[in-house]
Formats: sequence, C-alpha cells, structure tokens
Amino acid sequence: MNTNSSNIMALAPNASNKRETVCIFGTGDFGRALGHKMIQCGYPVVYGSRSTHISNLIPKDAEVMSHTEAAQKAAIIIIAIQRQHYNFLTPLAEILHGKVVVDISNNLKLNQYPESNAEYLAQLLPGARVVKAFNTVSAWALQSGTLDASRQVFVCGDDMEAKQMVMNIVRALGLTPLDRGSLLAAQEIENYPLQLFPMWKFPFFLSLGLTAFFFFYCLALDVIYTYVYENKNFSFFIAITIPNRICPVMALILLGLVYLPGVLAAIIQLYRGTKYRRFPDWLDKWMLCRKQLGLIALAFASLHAVFTLVSPIRSFVRWRTSKAIISQALNNKTEPLDTTNAWLSDSYLALGILGFFFFVLVGITSLPSVSNSVNWREFRFVQSKLGYVTLILCTAHTLVYGGKWFLSPSAYRWYLPNIYMLSLIVPCAVLVVKFVLIFPCVDKPLTQIRQGWERNPKYSE
Ligand code: NAP
Repeated sequence: MNTNSSNIMALAPNASNKRETVCIFGTGDFGRALGHKMIQCGYPVVYGSRSTHISNLIPKDAEVMSHTEAAQKAAIIIIAIQRQHYNFLTPLAEILHGKVVVDISNNLKLNQYPESNAEYLAQLLPGARVVKAFNTVSAWALQSGTLDASRQVFVCGDDMEAKQMVMNIVRALGLTPLDRGSLLAAQEIENYPLQLFPMWKFPFFLSLGLTAFFFFYCLALDVIYTYVYENKNFSFFIAITIPNRICPVMALILLGLVYLPGVLAAIIQLYRGTKYRRFPDWLDKWMLCRKQLGLIALAFASLHAVFTLVSPIRSFVRWRTSKAIISQALNNKTEPLDTTNAWLSDSYLALGILGFFFFVLVGITSLPSVSNSVNWREFRFVQSKLGYVTLILCTAHTLVYGGKWFLSPSAYRWYLPNIYMLSLIVPCAVLVVKFVLIFPCVDKPLTQIRQGWERNPKYSE
C-alpha cells in the first residue's frame, strides 16, 4: 500500500515543477520560434506586441496583449525586437523595474555601436536586471528542433540570480548555456554570429595561394615544357597527375607550418631568456590557427590517398604498363627484378601509409568531442609527440619517393627544382631545428624558461 502510494506521488504532477510564465516582446520570427519552443517545454508564454490581434503564426496556447499588460504577467521579459526600436521601452521602465530583461539582439556589422545592445538596454532600463542570451541561436534552429546548429547559448549579465534564471530556461529548452561573465562580455557575444570562420581565414587563403602557385608551377614544368621541348600533349595531367602532385606537397608544407611556430617560439624564448615577454602578433596569430592548418593538411593528405588509389585504373597508367610489357615481349627480354627499386617503392608506400594513419589519429584528437575526453597531458602527447612522428614519416615518405630527383639533371626543367624538393624545405627545417632543441644543453634552459626561470629577471629581490 505504502509503496503504491509513493509511486503515485512520484508520478503526480508536482506543483513546484510548474514553469514560470515568460513574457516575450515582439511577435516576429525569433519571438515566435522561441515562444513555440518554450510552450513545448512547458512554459506559459505571453506576448507583448504593438497589435493584440492574434494571427495564425502565433503559437496557439500563447496570449498576446499590450507590452504593459504582458510585462506585468511575468518576471522574465525577453526582448525579441531590433535594437533601433528599443526607445519604445523607456516609458515601460517602471513596470520593468526589478524584472529580468533578456536581450537577444544581434547587429548587422561588427562593433556597429559604441556599446553593446545589452549595455544600451541596461542604460534605458536602469532598474532592470539585464541578461544577454540566445543571440547565437537562430529562429530556424529553434524551429527545426535545434538539431542542425550549435546548441551553445552564451549568457552574460551583472546579476548572478537573473543570469541563473535565464540559464535554467536555456537548459530546459535542451540547449547548453555557457556563462561568459558580466555584461561587459555582451559586445563579444554580439559579434560572434557575424564572424565567418575567423580562425580559418589565414589557413584558407594561405592554402589557396600556395595551391594556385604550385598548380601553375606544375603546369609550366609538366605540361608546357613537355609540349614546347618534347612536342608531347600532356594537358590531361591537369585532371589527376597535377592535383596528385599538389596534394601531398600541400599536406607536407602545411604540416610543417603547424610545427614551425612552435620551434620559432622556442628560439625566441631562448634568445630572450624569459617567457614573460609577448610574442610578436603574427606569431601569436599563427599559433592560434595551427589546428586549422593541420586539418587542411589532413584534407590534402586524404585527397592524395584517394588520387593514388585510382591510379591503376587511369588510361595513361594502363597504357604505360602495357607498353612496357609489349616492348619486353617484342625484344624477347624480361627485365630482371630490381630489388633496390622494390625496396624503395615498398618503403615509400609503407612510410606513406603509416604517416597517413598517424595524421588521421592526430586529426581525430583535435575534434572537440575527442579532445574533451582526454586530459591535457594526453592531448599534448598526441598533438606534439605523435604530430612530430607524423611529420617525420611524411617527410621520409617524400624523401624516399623524390630523393632520386635531387641529382638528376632532367628534374631541373628550366633550371627549376621539382615541387617535391620545394615541399621538403619547411618540414626539413622544422625537423632539424627540433632535433637541435631536444639536445639536453638546449632543452634544459628552455624547460627552465617555460617553468618561469628568467636569465635577467626584471624584479629581482
Ligand atoms: P522581426 O521578424 O523583424 O521581428 C521584430 C519584431 O519587433 C516585430 O515582429 C515587431 O513585433 C517588433 N517591432 C518592430 N518594430 C517595432 C517598434 N518600432 N516598436 C516596438 N516593436 C517593434 O525580427 P526577428 O528576426 O524576430 O528578430 C528580433 C530580434 O532577435 C532582433 O534583435 C534579432 O537581432 C534577434 N535575433 C534574431 C534571430 C533570428 O534568427 N531571426 C536570431 C538571433 C537573434 P510586434 O509587431 O509584435 O510588435
């Protein structure tokens, strides 16, 4: 009997679980989408609008009334109205006194106004507890069940209790609140939706520029040169041969560029004898986009793997193989197996496969879902140690493949080196400097500097 009644008690609706009424000012796209989601999650919603006419678009179960009436019904008021219309709120300052007023607005340009919209709202309503939230979620994402966009909602505000109330609503809607501190953070939060892959700009344009350079370089040496001097039309190289030359070269150079700023930073710290002086801005920015550079490098490496796999079915490759077989048959002479070449070819393939495997492993650990599940030491181990192993394997793969070109005069068409040679400059430079840096006589002072030791301390006792 007792057990049954306690079960019934557990299943019965709990009066304290009843959600608080939320008021939304504005029945536009966002106001409606948010109201709809809130009603689904059990919040009674009242709209404050210039027109109390109920349209079909307004979620049913929601009430629409004047701004004054609606504001009196709730402790939380969400302003789903553009900033330029905020002055209509001034006469409502008294009614909104002590209420939690949520600013969800965005701007059309970065830093459009001297102060953030949320700070402006706080100036208009001095007695209100203003919280910034929801501006990073789109009306579309709310309508489509928030499955196709980020679930993170940045929240900031000066009143802890008000912020907590808003974060509870965010959680109840199935979103993830991220406390970004006081209202001072609002400007940054408002700029966030206007940014288009900010960390990707430099890696993207660098990759685009280098790819274009190498494309024209290969076009000149592999297609134009052979046409001019050998009268052969190899223009079809543009489809697979040239991309399959550019992809590994780009992958290796970009991977080298991921580790280059680290060794430059180490040299600067050793030279200065302290870690307490800021790096130049360009180096700071370069370090911040290493993950993006690495991911683009991985994309190039993956393309190289795919291009290589389709090689045997290419008409040019099949023609070259059958030509070699027919010429042996016509001469009635079988070429003996060249074990040195077999060794080189197998080693080059093995190094490539292993390099690609480690490359994928390093790439996977940079994904937030994976990096969140490892501790800092594990993350550094994979990104730094396994990253260097990848760089060594990929450089060795290129050296074994293209090593023979270095001494061959035919590799220097128009006195220009083959792109394999160009691709080795950055990774070899990084590996040589890194090799010097791990010598105990260099590594020891560097470790001390990174632990806070200074050669010429500014504030000596
Ligand atoms: P919207 O569709 O244009 O709706 C704005 C609403 O503001 C109107 O429906 C109107 O509601 C009210 N309004 C317009 N002029 C007014 C005035 N002079 N005085 C008082 N109220 C006025 O815009 P929205 O897309 O919903 O965006 C609303 C806010 O949400 C903006 O600040 C936007 O930056 C932000 N936001 C939007 C999205 C999104 O995906 N749309 C995402 C994040 C943030 P009534 O007719 O009911 O008065």
